Amino acid sequence: MKILVTGGAGYIGSICVEEMLNRGHEVAVLDNLTEGHRSAVDPRATFYEADLADRVAVGLAMKEFVPDAVMHFAANALVGESMTNPSKYFRNNVSNGVNLLDAMVENGVKRFVFSSTCATFGVPERMPIDETLPQCPINPYGESKLMFEKILRWYDEIHALRFTALRYFNAAGASEKFGEHHRIETHLIPNVLKVALGQKEAVEIYGTDYETPDGTCIRDYIHILDLADAHIRALERTESGFFNLGTGGGTSVREVIDCCRRVTGRPIQAVEKPRRPGDPPRLVASSEKIRGALGWEPRFQNIEAIVRSAWSWHVKNPSGYGN
Ligand code: UDP
Repeated sequence: MKILVTGGAGYIGSICVEEMLNRGHEVAVLDNLTEGHRSAVDPRATFYEADLADRVAVGLAMKEFVPDAVMHFAANALVGESMTNPSKYFRNNVSNGVNLLDAMVENGVKRFVFSSTCATFGVPERMPIDETLPQCPINPYGESKLMFEKILRWYDEIHALRFTALRYFNAAGASEKFGEHHRIETHLIPNVLKVALGQKEAVEIYGTDYETPDGTCIRDYIHILDLADAHIRALERTESGFFNLGTGGGTSVREVIDCCRRVTGRPIQAVEKPRRPGDPPRLVASSEKIRGALGWEPRFQNIEAIVRSAWSWHVKNPSGYGN
């Protein structure tokens, strides 16, 4: 298939692009490089440097490449930032995303895979989180993704645009070539590994008084290659649907740090800090629906394997993509 990938220069997008190319698909990347890196774009892909706010540029790329499907990763995805700058989240994640959908409609492109998030659920009333739970986001990031999910239902009904929305839990790990490099790093695993690399003195633990066994937040870390596999399976679907995408396992912040100590064999200093606004205490996926509908099965079932792959990329690329 021919796939247009927005955000294909970013962490998750770059690895999905690589995996699709490995499996024989033809790929074009559209990215404005504000978060992404040019060198994270697989050289086998066509590259359009464009911003989704630019309706003309998006329309031209769509017309020129004529994709069979679009995968939409381009977004802002930081919970903390969304709590101080909601405008950025509603503009980029909602309004600019609509430009993309409109360009698809105008060019007769009917298949869409959307990066959604477990942050659309807020603080769920039970665990693991399945697709029947109510979605009540507690930060503008989650709200912006939920708004876009709702928009998708209407483009499906009115324009027959078939979508698969994948609600990621915590993407982590790396492929051989591509990994996680944000210019401002706020994510747990890369921040812990920076301490192991000697690039940061200590990792901060945001909140030790949550109602969890060790007082720190619990997340469901999913390997980026398992995530990519789910996206590629989603391309085959002809019906629209929403799926939670995690492994079903929960790991606390302290457990992640301990795991990084074991994997790297290096001392990692941690300091306890207050809670970060917008963080739910525990987010763990039920993956039953996606296993059933897409035949998806995670290959990386434990945090050690995930951290090992991240560590091996960071050791090879201590400055990430270098810019
Ligand atoms: N976290 C932390 N220290 C850090 C970064 C993150 O304690 O330097 C915590 C954060 O509060 C959350 C968990 O680690 O409970 C995962 O955060 P991350 O930003 O990696 O992903 P999120 O769950 O926000 O998407």
